Amino acid sequence: MIAEEVYDLIPDDLFIRVDQLVPGSSVFLKLEGLNPAGSVKLKTAVALVADAENTGRPFPATRLIESTSGNLGVALAMVCAAKGYALTCVTDPNANSRSVRLMEALGAEVVVIDVRDGNGGYLQSRINYIRARLRREPHAYWLNQYANPAGPRAHRERTGRALVGALGHLDYAFIGAGTTGTLMGCAEFLRAHSPATRVVAVDTLGSVTFGGPPARRHIPGLGTSRRPEILDEKHLDEIVLVPGAEAVEMCRVLAEERGLLLGGSTGTVLAAVQNAAKDIPEGSVVAALSPDFGERYLDTIYDDVWVAERWPHLLGPETELDQARA
Ligand code: PMP
Repeated sequence: MIAEEVYDLIPDDLFIRVDQLVPGSSVFLKLEGLNPAGSVKLKTAVALVADAENTGRPFPATRLIESTSGNLGVALAMVCAAKGYALTCVTDPNANSRSVRLMEALGAEVVVIDVRDGNGGYLQSRINYIRARLRREPHAYWLNQYANPAGPRAHRERTGRALVGALGHLDYAFIGAGTTGTLMGCAEFLRAHSPATRVVAVDTLGSVTFGGPPARRHIPGLGTSRRPEILDEKHLDEIVLVPGAEAVEMCRVLAEERGLLLGGSTGTVLAAVQNAAKDIPEGSVVAALSPDFGERYLDTIYDDVWVAERWPHLLGPETELDQARA
């Protein structure tokens, strides 16, 4: 393949088997992290920027602005750099430093908001900041991934279509929920073209997206402190909340046993698959989505001290913890 632009390099047909999670069935993990932006959000970024272009606003005079926990910011920074557009990414202290540095390396302005909102997260504070910028700067335009239907539409036409195209028949689809753009798009496509597929939404415990009580969250990418506008539960068959500790444990086991260094949201989704295994009939075809890989999480999920401070039981004998702190 020879691409004109970096954001055209988006393979949508890469899967790896993780059958051990559901004995007697086939489990296909769709790998979304093998594009130049390293995550599923490159498809969202391309769609959001195209949508802004379609509003008729002047480019490059327009400054695009977006609230992002990391991956969308990296992807937008890549697309905007290639197109010569100005971009501001509004993020918070949960974003990993590697993502922030990537955004900056790609020429974006990065603003870190460290004031918590009423739910204990940062999302509402980030949005308040964006609204203030929009009032001050007439050429600023908010892409608004939490409300913009361009995101789910991209995943309906690309990610959802690719799932059915590659696997043909699938009994279950386990998909993580952040803005719910990936989930909504895939669910819509599956409803229309594979109606028997059971769509399982996976979120992290402490997220309010599906109405749960807010609590401190440690896994970036999944979960919200404010319900996303694009969420529509009618496309979902089941909603599962996974504690952060289970996600981290899954990530670390797959890294050591399969050489699969996956991101925290992938660990969350795969923990949900494993927890559901007892209810999945033998011979089923299960699809799960992996939004990104683990390299951006070396200082968190794959760092023994970070893990020990949050879930000491995951590290086993105290001696290992002492070694980690030494
Ligand atoms: N996992 C990771 C690592 C992400 O960055 C995101 C995007 N925030 C998601 C999952 C969730 O994707 P979406 O926003 O489409 O729900």
